[in-house]
Amino acid sequence: MQPLVGITCSEDSERQRYFLGFRYARAVETSGGIPLLLPASEKSVTIFARLLDGLLLSGGVDVDPVFFDEEPVPGMGEMTPQRDAFEILLTREFLAMDKPILAVCRGIQVLNIAAGGDIYQDIYSQYNGALKHQQHALREFPSHGVVIGPDTKLRKIANADKIRVNSFHHQAVRKIAPGFITGARSNDGIVEAIESQNHKFVLGIQWHPECTWERDAYSRKLFAAFVEAC
Ligand code: MN
Repeated sequence: MQPLVGITCSEDSERQRYFLGFRYARAVETSGGIPLLLPASEKSVTIFARLLDGLLLSGGVDVDPVFFDEEPVPGMGEMTPQRDAFEILLTREFLAMDKPILAVCRGIQVLNIAAGGDIYQDIYSQYNGALKHQQHALREFPSHGVVIGPDTKLRKIANADKIRVNSFHHQAVRKIAPGFITGARSNDGIVEAIESQNHKFVLGIQWHPECTWERDAYSRKLFAAFVEAC
């Protein structure tokens, strides 16, 4: 049977709407999964986790620093606290059940915080020597390289030690959650991927493979490996 993959949505606070780019669902569908969009319903977390075979944490705006006991720095951007709370609870439920998680961009931040790590709220004011991580090129194109760690799931999936990725973030993983390892770093030392050592398939990546899977074999392999795990 095809696995049921839940995908979290962004929130438009002003117009009070959920939204999600087409590409996440298409990438899941093309890889053999059934995509299902999830509203930020905290009360439904237990049922969602029981029903779904996998969780795709989608990209979006910044995560509220209250979830790792910090006050916001001036470089913090837009926040959606309801989405944060929902995604963190849902992620913890998936981790507890050891069900597969693929966390994209904002998702890697949510995953790391949910598992007990923290993040840079704004790398440009909190991290010395950061490269440009908010590219001004189409999302289909890579803008910087990442070095993939040896003995990582990512290395096996990509079958390469270096790949080029797109980049649309100003936050990044800082303290890696217990039980997780670095999957990849950009050349400035920023963590670009993390993975759990204690779960079958829990992977966070800072880039957006849903935008490049039509062009890149490694992006297709990433979604294929995720859906396969589901
Ligand atoms: Mn980047």
